[in-house]
Amino acid sequence: MHGERARALLERVTIELAREGVSVVRKRDVPLQRWIDRALRVITFGAMRSYLTDYVTTIGRTIYLPEGWESVPPGRRWETLEHELVHVRQFARFGLVGMAVLYLLVPLPMGLAWCRAQLEWEAYRVSLRCVAELEGLEAARDPAFREEIVRRFSGPDYGYMWPFAASVRRWIESELDAIERSLAVK
Ligand SMILES: [Zn+2]
Repeated sequence: MHGERARALLERVTIELAREGVSVVRKRDVPLQRWIDRALRVITFGAMRSYLTDYVTTIGRTIYLPEGWESVPPGRRWETLEHELVHVRQFARFGLVGMAVLYLLVPLPMGLAWCRAQLEWEAYRVSLRCVAELEGLEAARDPAFREEIVRRFSGPDYGYMWPFAASVRRWIESELDAIERSLAVK
């Protein structure tokens, strides 16, 4: 997928992460991450079973990679790392305890996690911009991609953090319009 350019962008974000002192490690190698996987299975009644295999997670200045990361296309890896870099900066802004409280508890751990939704939305805005930059606006506007994001906010992946699909769709639409305007003035 967009071979040369994708690899260059991946290289760029990798250098940026190293410069910011971010460690990038494998999730399964870290006992705490395996414990989180088990805890998520319990609290979501088994709905969340793919924490170790499908999700990249950032805690503090460490990015934890899932299985099979190397076989993910370079463009997708770049988009993901740019998303995670937003979370690294959120941890720098709010601190480890501040982030944990905001991300996990406010106002509720599940079902209505407004702060988590806002922190994720800041990162998903970057995801949308990355897709538009590398794959084009049409790809960013792809309904399948939009619904994937909607599902992440309203479904079990992040504990039903903002279960109002229509409002998530509106955020995405307005962000896409902003991206389109910023591309038009370039
Ligand atoms: Zn995220």
